[in-house]
Amino acid sequence: MKEELFANKTLEGIGVSSGITIGRVHLLERGAVSITKRSITQRQVEREISRLKSAIQGAIDELSNIKDTIPDDDVRKHTFIIDAHILILQDDFFANSVIEVIRGEHINAEWALDVVVSRFLASFEKVEDPYLKERGHDIRYIYERLVRILIGGKKSSMDTKNVKGRSIIVAHDLSPADTIQLNINRISGFTTDVGGRTSHTSIVARALEIPAVVGVGNVTSLVKNNDLVIIDGEDGVVIINPDKELQKEYMARQAHLRTQKKEYLRVARLKAETKDGFRLKVGANIELLAEMDIVEKYGAQGIGLYRTEYIYLSKKNDLPTEMDHYHIYRKLAENRSLEYITIRTLDIGGDKFVSEIEIPQEINPAMGLRAIRLCIKEVPLFKAQLKGILRASAFGPLRILIPMVSGIEEVRKTKAIIAECMEELSRKRVSFNKNIKTGIMIEVPSACMISDKLAAEVDFFSIGTNDLIQYTLAIDRVNEYVSYLYEPLHPAVLKMIKKAVDDAHAHKITIALCGEMAGEPRYVPVLLGLGLDELSMNPYSIPRAKKAIRGLDHGYCRELLEEIMKKDSPGEAEAMLDEEMTRLLPGDFSKGHGYN
Ligand code: PEP
Ligand code: MG
Repeated sequence: MKEELFANKTLEGIGVSSGITIGRVHLLERGAVSITKRSITQRQVEREISRLKSAIQGAIDELSNIKDTIPDDDVRKHTFIIDAHILILQDDFFANSVIEVIRGEHINAEWALDVVVSRFLASFEKVEDPYLKERGHDIRYIYERLVRILIGGKKSSMDTKNVKGRSIIVAHDLSPADTIQLNINRISGFTTDVGGRTSHTSIVARALEIPAVVGVGNVTSLVKNNDLVIIDGEDGVVIINPDKELQKEYMARQAHLRTQKKEYLRVARLKAETKDGFRLKVGANIELLAEMDIVEKYGAQGIGLYRTEYIYLSKKNDLPTEMDHYHIYRKLAENRSLEYITIRTLDIGGDKFVSEIEIPQEINPAMGLRAIRLCIKEVPLFKAQLKGILRASAFGPLRILIPMVSGIEEVRKTKAIIAECMEELSRKRVSFNKNIKTGIMIEVPSACMISDKLAAEVDFFSIGTNDLIQYTLAIDRVNEYVSYLYEPLHPAVLKMIKKAVDDAHAHKITIALCGEMAGEPRYVPVLLGLGLDELSMNPYSIPRAKKAIRGLDHGYCRELLEEIMKKDSPGEAEAMLDEEMTRLLPGDFSKGHGYN
């Protein structure tokens, strides 16, 4: 009955890892763990503390075991997230916070753990930035593992014995460790009730190339073991019990995607060069060191944007030190396959929040004390990062990128602070690249309007269209109600970019574009026409962008841009671009197939 009722039932979620897979469901029923509060006597305090300590040790052992049983080198590379979870478990601050609550409130270990974790999670809840908000999940996974051990008194690891190869896992939620563990059984895909694109589980799924759709809402209650399901990680769709016709359709799409992927991986190795011989650099935007494998595989020439905010968020109780920064950037610098590595200094504040940094409550945070404004005010915080970058610059082609510049004073002040950092390091006889390139993000309209003056001060520009569009069109980039107005081809936006490009070139400096717009291959003709020297994007988009670049003629793109810029409205410009893309590069580049 259920099967008939749900034939072809289509559920929508978030496609977090591309690819299509068809297979039988293996339902992992691990609902939320529930705990009760118990008061304890003074004499029981030590017993609860020792229960907590042995649960922590048990969780560390379990996670280490998962790591040790991974036979495959490729999978092992992604165990950094398990390491991060182990580090949190080993952190004295974490254990001591719980112990303090056990002692202070005379309550059982589970409840004390819940009190402490709720406190941590509350601070993550305040974060508006969806990427940073997701980091709270890591703490939640650790919490659930510990509670399962405390309640069950033993192992909390999943029992994967019955997971037959090529199954599709359906679960309420999966931790990154679960995902890695399941992958040992070579599952073919997964779908979960909850989750978001930027969770670590999703990052692991992408790195391991397991098709996945998360945030489906109630998929666990709609399927049973052995149901046939389709996971479409491209469109973020799960289809339960597809009929024969739909299966055939998806098998054909799956075959097409496989061929396309092979083709993209081939193109990834090729140069980003137009038919008439114009070459531009194509780089990757990253947030984690763990993304480096993908960066290479998908053919990035360099890192156009390393968003460093996660470094601040992953330090739980204090701010990263100069040496913390140095170790991370040095790892990047030592990668020999990259021509350049652009480290963007802290872009926190506004919608991005780190509890260790005191930021006043603001009515309008997007226009408040954020990014470079905050760094100039909190000089020691800024210097720790700058010195970390400088130290690492001795090992590879690092560049410094300053976000949210709105005027020339900010640039001059920043340069003076960099000079001070250099002096301090020289005094300590620390080596660094004295000619390190310093650039600025062009993402505030005022910076565009004075880009001629700014170009005289720096070594390169990088246009952040995510913010530039937000500030130019007065559209909050995270407000879904106005997202329809978020239009990259708005004539005002194109004029701004054009001006910045022309000013950069007049001053013989390079100019990149690293907003989401760069990762949408259908905009490639426009970006080529604008004369940008470099594009930086989500690594998965690189082959498609290269393919578009290689299929186009630079001279023609300049003419096309002139025509597009004559259009009065973004709608007309989009229509013209669509028509041209269909004519020039039929197939892969229609609207909406940019990100994956
Ligand atoms: C941008 O604003 O376009 C950009 C690349 O920076 P972020 O998205 O991190 O603000
Ligand atoms: Mg920005």
